[in-house]
Amino acid sequence: MATAYITTAGRCIIRGDVDATSIRSLDRQAQSPTLGEVRSGQSISREAALRLIRCPDGELPNLLAAAREAKERFKPGVITYSRKVFIPLTNLCRDYCGYCTFRRDPGDPGAHTMTSEEVLAVARAGEKLGCTEALFSLGDKPELLFPEMRETLRFLGYKSTLHYLEAMCELVLRKTSLLPHPNPGLLSAEWVARLAAVSPSMGLMLETTNASLLAPGAAHDNAPDKVPARRLKTIEEAGKQNVPFTTGLLIGIGESLQDRVDTLLAIRDLHERYSHIQEVIVQNFRVKPTIPMAHWPEPSQGDMLRTVAVARLLLPNVNIQAPPNLSAPYYEELVDAGINDWGGISPLTPDFINPEMPWPHLEQLRLRTESKGSTLRQRLPIYPEYVSRITVKHGLLSEKLRAASSGDGLARRAA
Ligand code: SF4
Repeated sequence: MATAYITTAGRCIIRGDVDATSIRSLDRQAQSPTLGEVRSGQSISREAALRLIRCPDGELPNLLAAAREAKERFKPGVITYSRKVFIPLTNLCRDYCGYCTFRRDPGDPGAHTMTSEEVLAVARAGEKLGCTEALFSLGDKPELLFPEMRETLRFLGYKSTLHYLEAMCELVLRKTSLLPHPNPGLLSAEWVARLAAVSPSMGLMLETTNASLLAPGAAHDNAPDKVPARRLKTIEEAGKQNVPFTTGLLIGIGESLQDRVDTLLAIRDLHERYSHIQEVIVQNFRVKPTIPMAHWPEPSQGDMLRTVAVARLLLPNVNIQAPPNLSAPYYEELVDAGINDWGGISPLTPDFINPEMPWPHLEQLRLRTESKGSTLRQRLPIYPEYVSRITVKHGLLSEKLRAASSGDGLARRAA
């Protein structure tokens, strides 16, 4: 079954479920040459992507049907998620992104750098709840801006936040069954290699290739680590080192539809060269009262569905993820647009990036996934098709990954 969309003024209104045959028949009636191109299973051109992302409401069902078919060719019948704990190692950050509620300056209420005891306590609590991922999220190089962070690191016994992160990944790997997945911001070649030794995969959101968002008053004003070329360099470095990598785009932060397509194309280009992009996240901006962008409009659900669908068609053989909590209450519609993964869901820790938007209960997620004709399966932070890149090696990381993964590369523990 799939959902039929009747749309008005750019907003989707769900009118009920129709079977896939009806959608295909609808598509045949109004099939565009662009969507015909898609049926071959080939990734689409920039021109086609631009036409599709701008498609009028009347053509949205056709776009969604094509994207869903592409997903079923890639990963039939299954939607995955990663059961995780979220470890906000430090929320101090030298950047000031206009949409961020996570970051703090030293002395701000809630400013905190976790101790190793706190890290281990969260990881162990997650282990008891069947989690298999320790997602390390943190601000980018806060010690470059704040003497207080330099003092904290001196007290903890580390030269930099990245040295501390490396040690905490290693600690979790050694003392628990969880697999670390760090998201530390920009990385040099040396740091990609060092973190790859203690985590099977890592991530950095490209967000956008539009450098004009660094201008005064824009989303990335005063965010030196958000220079697109520098982020592309980190992602490329991971490719050169064969490191399974998660990236993605953030939509609704001032970029154009063309920018979204170009961001996806930049990711596709790197993946074609290095075959290392294990996952592309399509994240939608959500407004919050305390952020500098408190009065910006949020992208509509129709906007989100078009972007996800175009991501699927541009990257037919890459895992596409969208966070369900940011599209609640109708997040299951994202399945119609071709996602094959819900991302990290925690039964223990909140989404520290969007704390006001709780993750769905896993049972709810399972039911909503099944309502769309798919089975929910628990994956590891590294996707199945990349597991052998790590398990062929020797050492603790390889041993831990072998112990955590089932024969099909998903989590050994059942969903
Ligand atoms: S989004 Fe990341 S880089 Fe930007 S301010 Fe927040 S923590 Fe820092």
